[in-house]
Amino acid sequence: MKDDSCLFCRIISGEIPSTSVYEDENVFAFKDINPQAPVHIVIVPKDHISCADDISSTNSSAVAACFEAIPVIAKEQGLTNGYRVINNCKEDGGQSVMHLHFHLIGGKKLAEKIV
Ligand code: 5GP
Ligand code: ZN
Repeated sequence: MKDDSCLFCRIISGEIPSTSVYEDENVFAFKDINPQAPVHIVIVPKDHISCADDISSTNSSAVAACFEAIPVIAKEQGLTNGYRVINNCKEDGGQSVMHLHFHLIGGKKLAEKIV
């Protein structure tokens, strides 16, 4: 369900422009406006889920769809040597947009590992 106050819902609907790199029935992916690496893609479920804390058995298929899209997008983006997938959840996790999303980051050797 679209949340009209949600930035990523508005990007998914096309109301706010983005550089889309992938779309299917359940998933939308676009270039991050403030890339942290040569490739930085934001992958979102089309259904509004606020954050990882709201994932449940009723909506987890949308999460699975995002993860099924990851290798497809990674291949299209030329990330043959690997990449990192990051989710920030709520305040302590540093989440700034409250629509569940996964950052796909790569295109260089990533050094800023915390785990
Ligand atoms: P978070 O901090 O919530 O994990 O990630 C939100 C991401 O969305 C940030 O990396 C930020 O650069 C990106 N972002 C915020 N606003 C926009 C926008 O209007 N367009 C695009 N393409 N990315 C955005
Ligand atoms: Zn949303």
